[in-house]
Amino acid sequence: MPNLSEQPKGLESSDYYRRIPGSRPKRLKPLADAKIHHEEQISLQKDKEKAIRIKLELARPERVAAIKEHLIEYWELKDKSQVERVHFIEAFNLPLQHRKSYGFMNDDRLAGTMIAVVPDDLWIKGSQPSESSAENDLIMFKESYFRGNDNIGWMTHELTHCLRYKNAAKDYNQDLSTFAFDDLKSDFAYPNNKVEKTAFSRQFEYLKGQGKTREEILGMISKEYSENDLPFFKRLIDRIF
Ligand SMILES: [Zn+2]
Repeated sequence: MPNLSEQPKGLESSDYYRRIPGSRPKRLKPLADAKIHHEEQISLQKDKEKAIRIKLELARPERVAAIKEHLIEYWELKDKSQVERVHFIEAFNLPLQHRKSYGFMNDDRLAGTMIAVVPDDLWIKGSQPSESSAENDLIMFKESYFRGNDNIGWMTHELTHCLRYKNAAKDYNQDLSTFAFDDLKSDFAYPNNKVEKTAFSRQFEYLKGQGKTREEILGMISKEYSENDLPFFKRLIDRIF
């Protein structure tokens, strides 16, 4: 028998139970199971998210220190103190303009994926605004781009790289050099490789969800890549639209 003391917090007893006519006053029956189930699910999800955050916050100092070491080595920084100018943000804590990408991915395993916001003068990837280091669960963004609205969906793209690594770490490097479409083969397995196929597909799905048309997506990507790469992108876009 349901016990009033067990009812979820925040719900009035009148919402949760109704009295059964003729029964003893205390004998109550669930009224809206679906609603309660839904609210319980939300409450459980919130508890889970809170537990994840606490765990991540405890691990943060050590994690950030290790990533700084990695960046000093990767960028071959002579003045190591420059790395202190990089800001670090876990994916669950992203600012508003990037939160929809994180929400779109809908996977708690990405909560601790670290985003390094890199001052433009330390950025080594030229006009490319982002890059991922999936094996380090790390994404780097050029600061000026990160502050904007990410209209091309690079956050979704990079999060997909990190997720793919979590799903199939041992295949990741092999898949990076394996053509996605053999009939579109060229000298380099980029972007036509299995890993980029997943990352661009997810990025384009996200953009479609944001209301972008096939032509708009193709237009955006054409500005970033050479004409030789367009058949690869067109094929991915055709599968989504
Ligand atoms: Zn990529």
